[in-house]
Amino acid sequence: MKPAPFAYAKARSVAHAIELLRAEDARLLAGGQSLIATLNMRLSRPALLIDLNAVPGLGAISVKDGYVEIGALARHAQVERSAEIRAHVPLIALAMPHIGHPAIRNRGTFGGSIAFADPAAELPACLLALGGEIEIVGPQGARMVKADEFFKGLFETALTPHDVLTAVRIPRASAETRAGFAEFARRHGDYALVGLAASARAQGTRLADVRLAYFGVDATPVRARNAESALCNGDLEGAIAALRSDLNPADDVQADGKLKGHLAGVLLRRVATQLASNKPR
Ligand code: FAD
Repeated sequence: MKPAPFAYAKARSVAHAIELLRAEDARLLAGGQSLIATLNMRLSRPALLIDLNAVPGLGAISVKDGYVEIGALARHAQVERSAEIRAHVPLIALAMPHIGHPAIRNRGTFGGSIAFADPAAELPACLLALGGEIEIVGPQGARMVKADEFFKGLFETALTPHDVLTAVRIPRASAETRAGFAEFARRHGDYALVGLAASARAQGTRLADVRLAYFGVDATPVRARNAESALCNGDLEGAIAALRSDLNPADDVQADGKLKGHLAGVLLRRVATQLASNKPR
């Protein structure tokens, strides 16, 4: 199918994009890997597409004091190949190859994935596991929103229709940081049936500050807080049992909730092994 007719404008700057967003029924275009598909299927019919691709400076990856900043327009492929990301945010480096296929990663953007907030997507869960923050610029200026407060519901976030997501900030890994990532998908590159992104801090032989973010199990990525506590106490079996109270996966087109619940436990066992080792696998 072809999209319904729409007008097109190329934003020259973030301020220009925000000005253009005052129009009724306007939508931002980044990599187009999700938006264009919804237009072609006529699941959405915006009156105006505002192309962010020519806005200078939105695609940078920079290592700052204490955190790494990933610009909204950084392409998945750019993030995947980044030596800075491998060194300072290993969890993101582990997750990137699971996102779609190379053609999609060449165009899709980090900011687009966070803004779109597909509940089965890898990056929203990674950001939640890492305790990242999202930089949003709107008509009233800039604000930072923690990942824990950003994902509100199915494809629903803290972004208003007048906002531009400009960057994400992620705490830099230290020598004690541990990362783990695993997912079940029918074929490599498909959206996951269930996935788990995890981070922790090694404290002697124990783990502290464990953050487990599941995706594909609910309308948003979800933290498994009881399982996190059990893992901090070194109790893997208790953590797996605790998933029954942390998660309540519903049936969807990919799998029923019972299977998803079982797979969540299998993933936790794999990810716990990664967290316990120095080198995430
Ligand atoms: P767009 O499609 O351009 O935009 C998506 C939405 O976000 C739109 O509503 C747009 O208005 C909004 N938006 C975009 N940028 C901003 C911004 N800076 N500020 C505010 N709003 C913004 N993703 C996965 O995570 N895992 C997968 O396994 C996966 N598989 C895929 C398989 C296929 C065949 C395809 C086509 C896509 C797949 N994707 C997958 C989606 C891909 O990761 C997209 O790149 C991503 O979801 C959206 O990024 P985008 O830059 O393409 O955004």
